[in-house]
This record gives sequence, structure tokens and C-alpha cells, in this order.
Amino acid sequence: MNATSQSPGDHPDGLMDKLVSLAKRRGFIFQSSEIYGGVGSVYDYGPLGIELKNNIQSRWWREMVHGHANIVGLDAGILMNPEVWVASGHVGAFSDPLAECLSCHRRFRTDELTDLEAGRADDQQCSVCGATGKWSEPKQFNLMFKTFMGVVEGESSTVYLRPETAQGIFVNFRNVMDSSRLKVPFGIAQVGKAFRNEITPGNFVFRTREFEQMEMQFFIEPGTGGYWFQEWRAWRMEWVRSLGIRPDRLRFHDHGPDELAHYCAEAVDIQYRFPFGWQEFEGIHNRTDYDLSAHQEHSGKKLEYIDPAAGKRFIPHVIETSAGLSRLLLVVLADAYTEEEVDGAARTVLKLHPSLAPVRAAVFPLIKKLGMPEIAEKLAAELRRQHNVFFDVAGSIGRRYRRQDEAGTPFCVTVDGQTVEDETCTIRHRDTLEQVRVPLSGVGQWIAAAVAASPTST
Ligand code: ATP
Repeated sequence: MNATSQSPGDHPDGLMDKLVSLAKRRGFIFQSSEIYGGVGSVYDYGPLGIELKNNIQSRWWREMVHGHANIVGLDAGILMNPEVWVASGHVGAFSDPLAECLSCHRRFRTDELTDLEAGRADDQQCSVCGATGKWSEPKQFNLMFKTFMGVVEGESSTVYLRPETAQGIFVNFRNVMDSSRLKVPFGIAQVGKAFRNEITPGNFVFRTREFEQMEMQFFIEPGTGGYWFQEWRAWRMEWVRSLGIRPDRLRFHDHGPDELAHYCAEAVDIQYRFPFGWQEFEGIHNRTDYDLSAHQEHSGKKLEYIDPAAGKRFIPHVIETSAGLSRLLLVVLADAYTEEEVDGAARTVLKLHPSLAPVRAAVFPLIKKLGMPEIAEKLAAELRRQHNVFFDVAGSIGRRYRRQDEAGTPFCVTVDGQTVEDETCTIRHRDTLEQVRVPLSGVGQWIAAAVAASPTST
């Protein structure tokens, strides 16, 4: 086989459009409520998308929770007492200033209106309708979704859809510490939905109004924030690389003093080079004691840690690692998407790390005769006990391979004429296109070993 592909580090032309179309064609991601014309920037994950999302989430959980004796999990409610968001500052400050084009009535974040920001409102053109110099005064716009709890609508029954998972961790700090008898330093990790009424969503699932976060708050002794911040900064990048993301498309972006959020002493983003530029998909933040102090003050409940051995009592400081699950899924897809020419024919392949691939192995009978479908079906049933397996009898073998290449399936197992005679089958490797002959009884183990031996970076 002779395979050539795009040069490493470069995305294929028009990648975002190609990803949207492949995601729909293969069942990764659909527009929400599509048959009704969709709804602004919400997406649904199809049969392959949910498998990929679950695999990313489960690798994160294994690394963060099962991989650390002093980190435990939590699953807090999406709806919380609205006072949480007052104490956290989200009711007061979680807003963007917006200016409205008086001609088409679209609203824009003022930081995207460079002339207006520079005091030249008369020169500012609307990117939608083209009108120039017709702008309202900027107004604050809160990004939290509001709804009502119970049967009465009104201020007293207002609740919010959480805009981040972190606050569910802070308000459960005491419960978790008391029930699990953890000692500082310790962490609480959570994966779940978050909602933001983003003004400029876009770039597919990069910025959406409903998304998922994977967050961990690490509670530490005051004065140790600098040390733990550096540790987590390095550990998180190491984990991202272990997903097989190309290292030359990853970098840190340290926040300068003018970029730091008011609750942060230090912050760094892990960025990916998307086709639309370098963008954050995970942040590591030294949040000091800002959150626990705010909740202690606002709720009137003590949120201190008592260290009887050292005779100390303090409000722990926090290092937070905050990643977008849906945004990381886009990183994984963009990084895996590859266009190649194999023996003069074009092929599209998702070179997903085998531990993330939605389907681990596809099993095919070469033809629908001579007992091959029965043997293949039996093999697929056995492999299903260990792996997520897809079985397909329809179409030419070449087309079946190409469909699995687009789904990112790392191994295709084919039962052919020789299988009937000697109980061996072929396993085709998605990336190298090499085929090996393996006894039917050894396929499950062979695949497990190949996944374990996969390099962490392509
Ligand atoms: P951005 O500057 O991109 O809006 P942020 O700095 O507000 O992000 P955080 O509040 O730190 O982000 O959230 C942590 C992570 O949650 C981000 O790194 C990102 O991966 C994810 N995230 C935040 N907002 C969205 C969104 N609207 N859609 C998808 N993921 C998001």
C-alpha cells in the first residue's frame, strides 16, 4: 500500500465544513430539533458521538478520580438555590456589554466592535446589515439562563440553569469532606451540563449554549497555591497529549495581569490550533479562597478546614482544572480528521486514538455465503463482551472498510474463505492498512493488546 496524507500540522482546507458534514453523515453530531429548523447553537450527539463523548469522559474520570487517592467524584444538580449565583458573583458580574445595531437590531459584544471600543462609534460598521454608525449605548447582558421553579412565575421563584459545574462542588465542600474524611490537599471532580446564553456562539460545538464541563477543584493549604498550580498545569497537558493530540497543535497561554479574572491569582489556558486559530479548551486557575470565603460569608455556614494534628484552621485555597467536554471532543475530531491518497484513491479517515474510538472493531464476513456470516456473527458476539463491536454484511468489503475509516474504527476483522478451513481471520489496521492473520480465538486479546500498546501521540 502506498499512502500519502496532508503534511503534519496542517488542517485540510475547509475542515470545519467537512467535520460538520462527516459528523452528520456518520452519526456523531446533529443539529438539535433539526426537523423544526434547529435551535440556536445546541447540538445532539448521535450513536457514534455519544460513544466518543463517553470515552473521553471515562478517560478523564479514570485519570482524575480513580488515578488519585485524594480525589473523589460528585454529581450535583443543575438547578441550585439562586443565592449560590449571588455569592459566586454570577448574578452581578457574569455579563457581557452589548451594543445593538439600530438598523437590523442584532446585538454584538462591544469587544468585537473595535471602532466603537476606540470611541469611533460613527465609523463602526455592522457586520450583518452593513449599516455604519447606528449603535445603541452598550448594555449589560447576563449570560445565565433563567427559569422559574414551582407554579408561580416571578422574581421569588427565579432559578438559573448553572453556567458552570464548579459551584456545585464548592457548596458541597463540607458534605464531601465530612463524609469521606479527606485531608487537605484533596480534590472533588464533576462532569456535567452547563448553560450559557452566549451572544456569539459558533464554530460548530466550540461555543454552544448548552455544553458539558469536566471540572476538578483541588483544595489546598494557603501558601501552597503556586506549587500546586504548576503541578496541575503540567499534569493536565500530559493527559491531553495521552489522548494522541498532535503536540505541535497544543500550547499553553498564560494569562497576563490584565487578562486575569478578579477571582484568580494565576491562570493558564491549554489551547489547540483549530482551523480558526489558537483557542482555549481547558483552563487551570488558582482561585485562592475566593469561592469558599464568598459562600461562607453569604450562607453564614463555616467552610473551614480543621487540621487537628497541626492545630490549624483555615479556609482552603483552590486550584481548578476546567475543561469543556464538548469542546475537547471537537479538538479530538479536528485532530483526527485526515485526508489521504491510497493507491491513487482518496480516503477520509478519523485517526482517533483506539481508546477513544466509538467502535473498537468492525467484524465483516467477506461474502454472504459458505458459512462466513455465521462465523463472523459468533465472533462479533464474543468480542462484544470486551469491546464495542459493529457487525456489517452489506456491500463490497472496500466500501465497508471506508465507512469504518470515517467512523474512526481502528480494527476491521474479516472472516474469509480461509477462516472456514483453519479458523483464522484477518485484522486490518485503520492507519497502516496492514493486515495480519490471527486465530479466531485470539482476536479479543490481540485487539486489547493493540489498544494498550497504542502510542499516546501521533
Ligand atoms: P471562553 O473564553 O471560550 O468563553 P471561558 O474562559 O469563559 O471560555 P471557562 O468559564 O473557564 O471558559 O470554562 C471552562 C471551559 O468550559 C472552557 O475552557 C471551555 O472548554 C468550556 N466552555 C466554556 N464556555 C463554553 C461554551 N459556550 N461552549 C462549549 N464549551 C464551553
